[in-house]
Amino acid sequence: MPRIASILLPMPLPEAFDYAEPEGMELAVGDQVAAPLGPRLLRGVVVALRDGAGGNRPLKPVAHRLDDPPLPPGVIEFINWAARYAVDAPGWPLAMALRGLRAPPPKPQVLVEPTGVVPDRMTPARMKVMAVAGQGEHTSASLASAAGVSSGVVKGLVEAGALAPREVIKVQAFDQPDLERAGAQLNLGQMAAAETLAEMARRPGFEVVLLDGVTGSGKTEVYLETIAEALRADPTAQVLVLLPEIALTEAVIGRLTERFAAAPAEWHSQVPPPRRRAIWEAVADGRARVVVGARSALFLPFRNLRLIVVDEEHDSSYKQEEGFIYHARDLAVARGKIAGAAVVLASATPSLETLGNAEAGRYRWLKLGARHGAARLPDVGLIDMRETPPDANHWLSPPLRQAMIETLSRGEQVMLFLNRRGYAPLVLCRACGERMRAPDTDSWLVEHRYTGRLVCHLTGFSMPKPAACPHCGAKDSLVSIGPGVERVEEEARSLFPEARVAVFSSDVMESADSARKLVAAMEAGEIDILVATQAAAKGHNFPNLTLVGVVDADLGLRGGDLRAGERTFQLLAQAAGRAGRKDKPGRALLQTYAPEHAVMQALAAQDRDAFVEAEMAARELSGLPPFGRLAALIVSGTDPAVLEAYVQALAAATPNAEGVEVFGPADAPLALVRGRRRKRFLVRAARGVDIQGFLAAWRARAKIPGSVRLTIDVDPYSFL
Ligand code: ADP
Repeated sequence: MPRIASILLPMPLPEAFDYAEPEGMELAVGDQVAAPLGPRLLRGVVVALRDGAGGNRPLKPVAHRLDDPPLPPGVIEFINWAARYAVDAPGWPLAMALRGLRAPPPKPQVLVEPTGVVPDRMTPARMKVMAVAGQGEHTSASLASAAGVSSGVVKGLVEAGALAPREVIKVQAFDQPDLERAGAQLNLGQMAAAETLAEMARRPGFEVVLLDGVTGSGKTEVYLETIAEALRADPTAQVLVLLPEIALTEAVIGRLTERFAAAPAEWHSQVPPPRRRAIWEAVADGRARVVVGARSALFLPFRNLRLIVVDEEHDSSYKQEEGFIYHARDLAVARGKIAGAAVVLASATPSLETLGNAEAGRYRWLKLGARHGAARLPDVGLIDMRETPPDANHWLSPPLRQAMIETLSRGEQVMLFLNRRGYAPLVLCRACGERMRAPDTDSWLVEHRYTGRLVCHLTGFSMPKPAACPHCGAKDSLVSIGPGVERVEEEARSLFPEARVAVFSSDVMESADSARKLVAAMEAGEIDILVATQAAAKGHNFPNLTLVGVVDADLGLRGGDLRAGERTFQLLAQAAGRAGRKDKPGRALLQTYAPEHAVMQALAAQDRDAFVEAEMAARELSGLPPFGRLAALIVSGTDPAVLEAYVQALAAATPNAEGVEVFGPADAPLALVRGRRRKRFLVRAARGVDIQGFLAAWRARAKIPGSVRLTIDVDPYSFL
């Protein structure tokens, strides 16, 4: 009986395509194959097989099976789950799952080896070659250079039959963790949590645990032990540690390497393609047992995934907003469920979604009490900027400057936190009032002094800062409004000319290596004042850092979306938590124009519970997550009339569904991006509603014109 193979291609097509299985190919689900699409042969994955030969028109046959390892069944299930969750094409998550295979497979190396045949003619040069060839592995080139002879000599020996070529493919080795090594001596609270987690790690099966503890309470130490336990319990077990940012990956990789005397496999966008392929293959065949990575590591082809750790689970960088839209924490839970693995969510300031699940008993909740050892949480103080404002065009208030003087004079370090890259967020013309905007996007251009450019932070567009106003032509009239980290650095340098000042932001941290160097310099005390964006606010332990100054605590509250309060609380609690991590007491000072705001009050009182309770009550009242579900539809197009017609058609086609409300269409706050106009709908649904089913049905009811793009964002984090 002939069979039909459903092949999913890694591109945004609505579904898998049918192909005929050629006789004798014996395909299996998960196999990677080359399949024809139009004139091209593309990589695809067999997702289903059934008997049959197709309808009236014969199906095109699969061209051939690829050498790459098949995708494990759990991965295919996960891809389908993710696509349904995101109401998007399954080819997207498949593309992410195959991203490791972009580099070609390693080329075989040709080694030359002695055959035992003695050549008729022996020269001193030939003798040297034969002596070297007997020791270790050699290519002809390395052999010639090791023997100090020309390549012709080696060639002659091959022709004479004394050496023979042999092709080998080098498989990259992955360090195997040493599970006999002892971990840290845990304190009592940590031990209790570690024991519960160890028991979970030993027992197969899906379970989610929230590991909840203040910054510095030892969550990392505890989950290192859970990883050890999972690896010990099953010799083929694999573990994935997810981190929200590359800068953090470095720190955790260091700790894992120390704990297990073996480096974990590192997976993120900066890992070069050949290394990614090596990791992909090692994850697929089980040689890589511990992987540390960014969100896309969820799509790796684990053979026997037993444990997933999502560190800083509340972090909004886990939300991918472009291309395939998903939240890595939510997908990690789904991946764990499909694999029957344990999932540990760690945070000092868990998301309201996770707290909701823990409160409802869906997740187990483990709490770590105080900071480990002598370290105490920092004192948090509010500086009322209305009472004690900084000088004009300066950003550090007198009380913060005073605290900096005290800290620096004790030889301790200061971090000034401002979550804004560049020099100034706005540039305007003193003569005509023109604000410098991006040409095709609804956003102000941010001045960057290091590069002398004006940059759009949304699209990456940039231009040199002009000498004259492009609007009125006035010379030298452009002024910088407001601070970014570069400007605060300038102020810190002029206030403390003796101090060593550095900036930590994603602009400076182009590579993982420069991040590592800066962190090392900070740890070694080679920096006195670190001006940092959120890139440095998380995860790091700087023992001599005792003062954190938050330059603009109100920044995240402006704009006021659903999570503004939650996000501000989390970010500032993290930033403040950098101070006093060792035995010296730390303090955090928050500059604010709204000290009475609930978020500021909760931070000052270090009362997370009160904040969460108030925020939960407000969300429950308005049916917002975690009490209800949200989804956004973003429609964009280049032709306003076509866009408007489609938006109206979509509005008219809104299905009637119990428990679902649709708001909009409205102009998006960000109404123009890269020349495309944008409109939004917002859907709010009760918890039990199949919001994905609703969205898929709705989208199918109106035909999308070619120039219009519809993006569905389930559980949106950005409302722009
Ligand atoms: P968290 O992940 O909760 O922020 P960490 O695990 O990073 O906390 O711990 C904070 C600091 O305290 C780290 O330097 C860590 O090595 C140290 N620490 C925590 N627990 C212990 C312990 N039981 N023994 C020794 N050092 C510890």
